[in-house]
Amino acid sequence: MTILYSTSFIPEAICKICNHTGATPVFSGPDRLMCLPGVFQFVRCSYCGTFYQWPKLPWDELQKYYQGDYDSYISALADEPSRIRRWLRRRYTLKMRRFVEQFAQNGVLLDIGCGTGVFLEEMQMSGRWQLHGIEPTTTAANYVRQRFGIPVINSLVEQVSLPDCTFDVVTMWNVFEHLSDPKLVIQKVYHSLKPNGIAIIAVPNYESLSRVIFGKYWCGWDLPRHLFILPSTTLLELVKRTGFTVRQHKCFIGTYALLGHSLSFLQQDLTGSKQTALSILQKIYISPIGRLLFYPLQYMTEQTGLASIKVWALQKT
Ligand SMILES: [Zn+2]
Repeated sequence: MTILYSTSFIPEAICKICNHTGATPVFSGPDRLMCLPGVFQFVRCSYCGTFYQWPKLPWDELQKYYQGDYDSYISALADEPSRIRRWLRRRYTLKMRRFVEQFAQNGVLLDIGCGTGVFLEEMQMSGRWQLHGIEPTTTAANYVRQRFGIPVINSLVEQVSLPDCTFDVVTMWNVFEHLSDPKLVIQKVYHSLKPNGIAIIAVPNYESLSRVIFGKYWCGWDLPRHLFILPSTTLLELVKRTGFTVRQHKCFIGTYALLGHSLSFLQQDLTGSKQTALSILQKIYISPIGRLLFYPLQYMTEQTGLASIKVWALQKT
């Protein structure tokens, strides 16, 4: 099938966030992370400002782009052979757990798009949570069931009927942007929460410094796996309309790794001396000294809300 990409206004494009038609092409590009074949396009809704992929790939096409070495498919912490990686991963998941436990300290928790259970494993270690997961990839869902004994529904969340008023906390770590119908899922999450329940949503931060610097090379776009990128004002409008109040939003995860991805995406398209210069910068970046050198930038972007991932804590009211 040949897909034609537009360079001008697309009147037939439909925005799933506001239901209005009409969008403007932003850019088209390849799968920079996994380097799988295809060219894809982001457009921007003329009404609400949402960025979305158009034309939209059906799930049976899209799932080819979720392979075993995609970021979320990693093994349990105890099976991690490298002590340094184990320490870095635990540091990351502890931040997630502490963020959640500011708002709720125990109860029933659902992690949507749980992958191989990186976050669920951390919450299991606290011993205070009754845990559940939803994950569309069968191998990952089976892994969580067998490795951690946590029940996981193996399905796309859009196709799952969630019970009303059941969960104290529902989390979606870097999942929202992968959903084919994020508005529907936000509404489902709202209804599945108990009164005053908490939803945690981590999304690519359109306002991030990396997006401004790297443009179409910003790793937050992640074509074709990311289907929606919402500016904060549009996301805020959506969650408020659903009935949530915002308890907090903060940048605290993924900053270092995501900046590294953006650098490598830019390098892929450069040639000659520019590519060499960037390649040297990347080698410095991934070295322990580089990590120290870049720490002030990481700290500054996280403190000012300009890092690549923003985490929202929402409360059902
Ligand atoms: Zn819209």
